[in-house]
Formats: sequence, structure tokens, C-alpha cells
Amino acid sequence: MDTLLIPRRPHASPTPPHARAALLEDPGFGKVFTDHMVTVRWTEGKGWHDAQVCPREPFQLDPAAAVLHYAQEIFEGLKAYRTRGNDVVLFRPQANAQRFRESADRMAMPLLPPDLFLGAIESLVRTDADWIPTGEGSLYLRPFMIATEAFLGVRPAAEYTFCVIACPVGAYFKGGAKPVTVWVSDNYTRAAPGGTGAAKCGGNYAASLVAQAEAIKNGCDQVVFLDAAEHRYVEELGGMNVFFVFDDNTIVTPPLGGTILPGVTRDSILTLAKDAGLTVQERLYSFDEWQADAKSGRLREAFACGTAAVLAAIGEIRHAGGSFKIADGLDGPVTCKLRDQLTGIQRGTAPDPYGWVHRIDMEG
Ligand SMILES: *Cc1c(COP(=O)(O)O)cnc(C)c1O
Repeated sequence: MDTLLIPRRPHASPTPPHARAALLEDPGFGKVFTDHMVTVRWTEGKGWHDAQVCPREPFQLDPAAAVLHYAQEIFEGLKAYRTRGNDVVLFRPQANAQRFRESADRMAMPLLPPDLFLGAIESLVRTDADWIPTGEGSLYLRPFMIATEAFLGVRPAAEYTFCVIACPVGAYFKGGAKPVTVWVSDNYTRAAPGGTGAAKCGGNYAASLVAQAEAIKNGCDQVVFLDAAEHRYVEELGGMNVFFVFDDNTIVTPPLGGTILPGVTRDSILTLAKDAGLTVQERLYSFDEWQADAKSGRLREAFACGTAAVLAAIGEIRHAGGSFKIADGLDGPVTCKLRDQLTGIQRGTAPDPYGWVHRIDMEG
């Protein structure tokens, strides 16, 4: 594929190799950043312009910038992996480019051409390739767009900045995947019909933080949201989709319908599960059913999924009325198999029958 040429202004004093090596030893998640970023600006009447790879540094932002007041902001999250064959690859980046456009559309922001989205990411990965961890780690990429116009009136802004930053990250679960405990919130919801639930926007996360805090207070790792209309059906976690595995080879996930974020991981798992011969159902699943199925033993496994954590088994569920476990509360066989299949494709240790892996030409 042709690569877009984005001018590069290299960092005058990048992190020295020994300091970088020390940071890469235990980067955690989202705390260590590479030396560069990509920025592209958009102005009404002019469109996208001034794409550049430049040193990562603070933005100049007017205190009246629209994003600071009305939260016109969207983002994406994807990873670059170094394969055993020393290729650098992305996983289904076109799906992220497309979702970014859909999020922009919902938030009345300009649509970024997919080749510019991908070109920006590739340029940053090439520039900061020395920051890609080997082994179980990866380089997490965070494309985002903010409204920069200084204007306090309420309407879509006339100026935006698209930016990509990158963080080396370790294995999400140190010492292997261990099941998470989730809190089912009965007072907070994430997204209502007609709202922004299907858009990857910062505002959804801002609204989920008190529920997540409530989960932590109750000894849980993550919050599970129910639907806003009836508080009855399971929707998703704060930042991950959810799946249920039954004893009759059926796998269930809530349907997309505007209140759930259409995860790339979710979509990939649906494909892998179908091809593994499981019966796949995208259907409403109530919290009452969840409790009854866990109790009867019909429900064998449940897991949450997303780019950052890949697949995380759900071992225990807590809510205002009590708690229950799923099967023996351990990482189940279907969860493990799907995780191994997915990470195998992502890291190039398994064949890629779906054409999901996008190799970056590092000479470009
Ligand atoms: C990003 C996100 C997901 C997971 O999407 P992936 O594309 O699989 O990383 C799920 N739910 C929410 C709310 C998200 O923001």
C-alpha cells in the first residue's frame, strides 16, 4: 500500500537508549510515552492540513477552546506488535479508522480520511520504532481529535486537531490472566438510546468514573452497566464488551444498537467463535438470566474483551443484592482458546485467514 508522506521534525534530544531500555522494562499501562507525536489540523473552509510528526510536547490551547467546555473529543486505541519474525504489525487498523469516522460523525466533528488515519499511525510507529517492546508487550497507539476553536457559543467548532501519541505497554495482566470481579451498577447507566454510547468519546468515560469508583469501593475491578431504559439487560463494561459461554456450545453477546461500543475485539471474537463451530448469538441478556444461569450451571464462562486487556475472564459478580460466581470462578477453556487464537493472529504466531494483520513497511 502507498504510504502517505508526513513531514518529520525529529526531537532534538530524544530519550537516550539506556533510559529508554529502563522505561521499557516495566512500562505499566499509559504512563510511559514515546518521543514523538503526529498532529494534523482541520479548519473550516480549508479541510485537513499541516500534518507533521513532531516532538511530543504540550499543546498551545486557548482557554476558550471548545473541547474544554463542551467536550467535543473522540479517540481510538490500537496496538503495534513486533512479531517473532521482526515485522511490525497493526491489528485491523482500518476498523479503527472507520469507527473514528463514525464517532466523529456522531459528535459533529470533521471526518478524517482513513488513509490519513493509517498514515499518521504508521509514521509515528516508524519514527518511534525503538519503543516497541518485544515479547509480551506492545506499543499502544492513541489517536484522538479535539475541538480547538476559541468560542463559547454552542455549535460544532470550526477548528480541530487530530493527534496520535504512543505508549509502550507490558502484558496487561502480569503473571498471566487472572479472572476479574465485576460490580453491576443498579443506579448508574452508561448510555441511553439516542445518546453517544456507540461513539468512542471522552464524555462517555467521564460519566462512567463514579460507577467505576463504586466498583472499586466494593472490591471489584470493573463496572458492568445495564441498559438505561429498564436497568435490566447487560450492556458492557466501562471500556470493554462482554460475552457469555454456555454448556451447549452457545456464546452470547449483547447486540449493537447504539448504546454499546462496537469493539474490534468483540467483532473478531464473533468471527473466531463462529469458525470454531460455536453457536453465536447477539441478543439481549438480562441480569436476572445471568444470575439464574450461573446458579443452574448452564453458564460456564463469561469474559470481557477489548484491545487493552484482550480477553479477561469474569470470575465473580457483585451487586447491591449480593454476589455470585461463574462455574469455579477460573479462566475457562473457551475464554483461553479464543484468547490464544486472537493473540496468536495479532503476534504472527498463528495464520491470519481473515487478513486482519497489517504489516508496516518500516522503510517508508
Ligand atoms: C474501546 C471500547 C471497547 C473495546 O473496543 P476494542 O475495539 O475492542 O478495543 C469497548 N467498550 C468501550 C466503551 C470502549 O470504549
